[in-house]
Amino acid sequence: MHEFHDIDGTLFDLDGTLISGGTALPWAHDLIEASKGRFAVVTNDAEHTAEEILSMMQDAGLSVPREMIVAAGVEAVRLVAEEMPGAKITMAASRSLRSYAETLGLHLTDIRPDVVLIGRDRQFSYDTLSSTANAVLSGAELIICNPDRTHPGPEGTVVPETGALAASILACTGPVQHRVIGKPEPGVFLAGMRLLGTTPKRTLMVGDNPETDGKGAAGLQINFLKVGC
Ligand SMILES: [Mg+2]
Repeated sequence: MHEFHDIDGTLFDLDGTLISGGTALPWAHDLIEASKGRFAVVTNDAEHTAEEILSMMQDAGLSVPREMIVAAGVEAVRLVAEEMPGAKITMAASRSLRSYAETLGLHLTDIRPDVVLIGRDRQFSYDTLSSTANAVLSGAELIICNPDRTHPGPEGTVVPETGALAASILACTGPVQHRVIGKPEPGVFLAGMRLLGTTPKRTLMVGDNPETDGKGAAGLQINFLKVGC
């Protein structure tokens, strides 16, 4: 593959673009080479920390600097800590994302939180639904790590995602103002460009999903290259 021209930095989606099912996709190394090493990974992952994603990538034989990984879950937590230092937060999220929030000084609680954050919580339950929906109705700000309702699983199955959990909360609360951090919203694209120090016109987004990677890039006038099926 030739180098990308007229581009100062590349944003790579992760699943379906560089890796799939824990292994590197056949074109992953060529894509990384074509970016001349000036790339960041922007993923809607709402479950893992950057360290965990780094280790998944390393297991697949891909090397990337840890600080160049932008994940929707981590980004959402980072945003809350930045905007509302020490905020009280209810999180429907993985243990590692919850620990990350604590390291940033956020206070995890189900009692009158300032923020309700929804990630990919594999332990999501009726109680989670009840406490998060009622916290939002009591005035907590609702932040959704990504809007994806499912991602493809093996043999035509679907894997429930963050957006499906968020939809159940919104089904209880009715329409309420909320923020979505992951693609196609601008958050992770902007964070990736900040890391690369590039402008939209000189940035290339490479992804497999026109609905998230493509639509989000178009909204910011970032160039888009689709890979995969
Ligand atoms: Mg993808």
